[in-house]
Amino acid sequence: MDLTNIHDVKDLLGRHGFRFSKALGQNFLIADWVPRQIAEAAGVDKSCGVVEIGPGVGCLTRELAARAGKVAAVELDKSLLPVLAETLADFDNVEVVPGDVMKLDLAALAADRLNGFTPHVCANLPYNITTPVLTNLLESGLFRSVTVMIQKEVARRVCAGSGTADYGAFSLLCQYYADCELLFDVPPGCFLPAPKVTSAVVRLAVREAPPVNVPPEALFRVVRAAFGQRRKTLLNALSSAYGNQFSKDELRQVITGCGLPETVRGEMLSLEQFAELAGKIDSFL
Ligand code: SAM
Repeated sequence: MDLTNIHDVKDLLGRHGFRFSKALGQNFLIADWVPRQIAEAAGVDKSCGVVEIGPGVGCLTRELAARAGKVAAVELDKSLLPVLAETLADFDNVEVVPGDVMKLDLAALAADRLNGFTPHVCANLPYNITTPVLTNLLESGLFRSVTVMIQKEVARRVCAGSGTADYGAFSLLCQYYADCELLFDVPPGCFLPAPKVTSAVVRLAVREAPPVNVPPEALFRVVRAAFGQRRKTLLNALSSAYGNQFSKDELRQVITGCGLPETVRGEMLSLEQFAELAGKIDSFL
């Protein structure tokens, strides 16, 4: 059975009485080049174990299983379990894990299901949980890489550089933990049903060591403060967030002490500049 052939997929789902759920972000791939290219982009081999989030009918799962040593595919929709039992029957290196990726213990999942393999993540992510899932995966420090298809708009934010419209707190979070690359676009016509927006595949190669030397809590407190009030200058945004601890004059001195103009906006600062600023603020707290 070709799991990206629209007729085969409709027949399969019809036999199992499956109904699509919008709430679960169920847009299944029906273009054979897409799962192949995503699995290829993941760069996994037989030494790797892959956590796939949301296997759907299993088209990407099969491509991953052909390349990786083991695949643990986490699926929330119970009605897809009998479908996956059928479509993945010939793959002895795939384990379907029923459950919600937002609630699962990721460390236990990697230790129990991918023991002995280098852990990676690869998925066509449900759109509604993209940001919290990526945050959890990166903060967990468990995975060597995360290759995912997400909305193009979010993909651009993941990879955006300072001074661009897409740059924000989420860009800095992703780029603190990983080297992020925007790989290719996938048009709506490649899915059943077709979503309203274009998708894109990103690969996040997780860093072995942080790129800047400041505790992440201190760094992201400053980053969140700077982008929480995007239209304000950095000075005004920081004085709203740190007003109890610092006077405006003290914050002005911290900003200019980093070699930045006092009128600068947060979106102009690179990760390194945020780290310098956070380090100075942290040392006074
Ligand atoms: N991988 C398949 C493909 O590419 O055709 C399906 C991708 S579809 C965009 C998202 C999948 O994630 C669906 O199978 C959906 O049921 C599943 N899903 C949604 N929320 C989930 C969650 N919280 N945990 C695990 N799976 C979830």
